Amino acid sequence: MEQIKAVFNGKFDSLKNIQISPFSRAYTFSDSVYEVVPFYNSKPIAYDNHIKRLQSSSNALSMKINLNVISNEIEKLISLCESKSGYVYYQVTRGQDLIRSHMHSNDIELETFGYVLPHFFETKFLKIMICEDLRWGRCDIKSTSLLGNVLSMNQAKEKGCDEIIMHNDNILTEAGASNLFFVKDGYICTPSLSNNILPGITRQILIDALEEIDIKVHEKDFTLEDLKAASSAWLTSSTKGIAPIEEIINLDCNLNLNDESYMIAKKIFDSKFFS
Ligand code: PLP
Repeated sequence: MEQIKAVFNGKFDSLKNIQISPFSRAYTFSDSVYEVVPFYNSKPIAYDNHIKRLQSSSNALSMKINLNVISNEIEKLISLCESKSGYVYYQVTRGQDLIRSHMHSNDIELETFGYVLPHFFETKFLKIMICEDLRWGRCDIKSTSLLGNVLSMNQAKEKGCDEIIMHNDNILTEAGASNLFFVKDGYICTPSLSNNILPGITRQILIDALEEIDIKVHEKDFTLEDLKAASSAWLTSSTKGIAPIEEIINLDCNLNLNDESYMIAKKIFDSKFFS
């Protein structure tokens, strides 16, 4: 904790010295958005995509952010990290109220907060629990309102799982902190984007990389039955990369960790992500 490099409202310091008001709207209402920017060889991965998504999340909350300042802070955090591989967490909050009120005043100043951590991108094999999607109607915004994810992921943790896969009335959405891909009848499939799914940057990198080698990823609504019939499945995220699923504890399926389509996806993805 002492060593973690951080920045709060433009001031760089150790994480332990940062103090936040309990009237910060991040604290009372989760009125904030965030990004997780991975880096490798001290260079950010898919940086423009992360910055663009931060902009669109901020627009959705009508928060006017200064991208130049934020970019400089993210770059500086990367340069301060003792490791060449890691990630920056960066959050923008609407600001601090004088007194807690759902309706914020218009003249409060945005609060920004970021920190950097070393991270080693290793392939992790995942154990998954399927659960209902309990979340709100705008999961496409990368906001810190993550209680639905938190509740279900902790239930999964109690069952020895690493992640969840969620569904709305049998229609697959995504995982708790990643997007879902699976292979069915030889086709690589992923749920299509909607208000119920975060447009994952790793998801898009993989789709584009596969398209470059003439493999089309099928994007549409898929059901639990489709996943049951899958020959392999994996999750994608900025910190996991591509993580294969070895077991789904509450779905009768037979996932092959050596599936050819998975292997191709993993190889092409690694060549893009870590280039
Ligand atoms: N879906 C959710 C709910 C997430 O929280 C995340 C990442 O944190 C993702 C998908 C993957 O997004 P990305 O690939 O941009 O990290």
